[in-house]
Amino acid sequence: MVEKKKIAVYWSASCGGCDVSLLDIEEHLLELVGIADIVYWPVAMDFKKESFFNLPDGSVDFGLYNGAVRTSEQLEEAELFRKKCKVLVAYGSCAGFGGIPGLANLSNRQQIFEVAYHTTPSTENPEKIQPEIESMVDGHSLHLPAFFDEVQSLPQVVDVDVVLPGCPPPTERLLDLLHLVAQYVQTGEVPPPGTVIAADKALCDLCPRNENRRSGRIAKILRPHEVEADPERCFLDQGILCMGIATRGGCGATCIEVNMPCRGCFGPTPDMLDPAAEAISAIGSIAGEANENDVPPHEMKRVVRSLRDPAGTFYRYTLPSAFLNRAVDDKPEKEKP
Ligand code: SF4
Repeated sequence: MVEKKKIAVYWSASCGGCDVSLLDIEEHLLELVGIADIVYWPVAMDFKKESFFNLPDGSVDFGLYNGAVRTSEQLEEAELFRKKCKVLVAYGSCAGFGGIPGLANLSNRQQIFEVAYHTTPSTENPEKIQPEIESMVDGHSLHLPAFFDEVQSLPQVVDVDVVLPGCPPPTERLLDLLHLVAQYVQTGEVPPPGTVIAADKALCDLCPRNENRRSGRIAKILRPHEVEADPERCFLDQGILCMGIATRGGCGATCIEVNMPCRGCFGPTPDMLDPAAEAISAIGSIAGEANENDVPPHEMKRVVRSLRDPAGTFYRYTLPSAFLNRAVDDKPEKEKP
């Protein structure tokens, strides 16, 4: 009888949807538990960190780490996973690229604390208390994890073998991961470092609406709730921003199928330096009134400005790992508002 393998799962800076998505493989879960034991999954069962810590290094076969890295505790777990696991998987877009929590890089730690503990309308904090790493409570010393100044993706803090993108990863791709685990059980073969369980091509190349795409000009960028989208036509042709132009395919185009544009959760294609630059360049090439061939720069600016929240749109899932990965407030103190 083949010895069962070991799997560990951890949830850091994320919404918890990745943990739930593990259950989406339904009856295939039985296949998984047939070939592997879960030795650590604190959110689901009462595992102790100490028992995971005491396992020999490299003795856990697959580690599925979901969520970005924002605190010293999450960094400690990421380093522990790297040490204990033969194959470390960045599970989901937060682990892979920073994800939605990564948009916090548009502010720094001080700005976030200012809002969270001082300026929200529902906050009453006259003593201006905010979390400290060490504090005394009723004579006892309390230790909290450090809250870093920026969010990082898992590959930015440790070496990662496999990235499984998605917010959360779709069931089909999760089954691909299960297939890799089964292959490892049978042959001992581990996936090569740098494996991304997704297509190398952009979603546009795989999208059913691409066949009818006209690439006509758009005079204004619309948000999905501002128009009833034609379910057959390319979103860009209808003036609705779709990140399929700058996003890896392999998700099954599930958003497109329910008539919602791609929001970019599968991250950039392998040859792309920065997804926002790619998307802006694509919009620039179609911005302007219909039938205009030579669009003046001010017209292009007007169209691009009709897009609300450009950073949140273009970098919704990828800001920490993008080329421009955070906002920097480098104004001298006296010039600040
Ligand atoms: Fe499909 Fe969106 Fe690409 Fe159009 S822009 S072809 S709707 S993925």
